Amino acid sequence: MKIKNNYQTSPCIICVALTGSVPRKKHNKNIPISINEQIESAHECFEEGATIAHCHVRNNDESISFSPDKFFKLKEGLRKFCHGMVIQFSTGGRYSLGKERGKMLSIKPDMASLSVGSNNFPNSVYSNPPELIDWLIEEMNKYKIKPEIEIFDLSHLFKAAELYKDNKITGSPYIQFVMGIKNAMPADKSVFNFYIKKIDKLFKEASWCAAGIGKYQYKINEWCIKKGGHTRTGMEDNIRLNKNMLAPSNASLVKLTANICKINKRPIANWKQTRQILGLPLKFN
Ligand code: MG
Repeated sequence: MKIKNNYQTSPCIICVALTGSVPRKKHNKNIPISINEQIESAHECFEEGATIAHCHVRNNDESISFSPDKFFKLKEGLRKFCHGMVIQFSTGGRYSLGKERGKMLSIKPDMASLSVGSNNFPNSVYSNPPELIDWLIEEMNKYKIKPEIEIFDLSHLFKAAELYKDNKITGSPYIQFVMGIKNAMPADKSVFNFYIKKIDKLFKEASWCAAGIGKYQYKINEWCIKKGGHTRTGMEDNIRLNKNMLAPSNASLVKLTANICKINKRPIANWKQTRQILGLPLKFN
């Protein structure tokens, strides 16, 4: 008799990465760029089961922005139209802007992404110097923001463990592996399995998810859902519904992920369960 995997009954969090900093309307006209488009898109995704919105903001010309005003408006809209959804701001800086990447943290999102090491991207260096990492953590702790720790390479996982041991990251860590970016970590199953095993060894308790970039999105969703992790989808990472078709919306990608949960009998976490899993308050402002 096959032993039942406990994970099968544990709710799976679906995060939607709405916009990111790279794709433009010329790549897929359906990508939400303005704050209103982002709120509308998040609302559709929330209805399909996504309970974390990973947020970047853009200027009118679609270039990346770190404007606290824009982040404030986005948070306000998400609170109003997606009640309970976890709001996660990106402090990622493909264009390496130093502390500018964290100046919106005073707006107090529920979560913020936190990169803990440097690596290469397809055409650039993703630079996260130690002093910037320390400063971002201090800011997140100051405003009681839960970090989502981004792992783009093996050394990042060990850095996260060190930060956890030193009590700089408190509570139960939430760790995300990013796989399939050219020049960084490949979408390789044995590497994925190794990382998950390593989490158990390095942290007393931690939850994890993974994001697959481009054509790897669906596959990584499957790996996470089958292995008991949480998962991420959205047009930041992948603009296609399948090989032959651009995604008509973020919600269409969330639907695909929700369907993988269904196939594998994983319930999808609602916003209250998501907040419980992440140790976030059920009352918030
Ligand atoms: Mg991002």
